[in-house]
Amino acid sequence: MSPEERRLRSRLRQILNRSGVLHGTLVRRRRVCGKPNCRCARGQKHESLYLVVTEGGRSRQLYVPKEWEQTVQQWVREYRKARELMEEVSRIHWQKVRERQG
Ligand SMILES: [Zn+2]
Repeated sequence: MSPEERRLRSRLRQILNRSGVLHGTLVRRRRVCGKPNCRCARGQKHESLYLVVTEGGRSRQLYVPKEWEQTVQQWVREYRKARELMEEVSRIHWQKVRERQG
């Protein structure tokens, strides 16, 4: 294993050891709740965070409660980092097949 591959694997392991990972895109939506006397009826809409993920051509979304926002944002960031590292490890293996060096 090359030093580069070792370094990538170690960073990947660190992410998985210290954090959750979550696949999706965070979208903040503004909406009205429907209560006639609420501030949102006067233009101050409620803001909610959703996690949107598309799998197999189908899009799903998940409401993220306020108290979960920071955690979910971190998991999403860590997922992205982990995926980039996986891609780099994959490139190394692509090269191994190409050069017939299992
Ligand atoms: Zn409202």
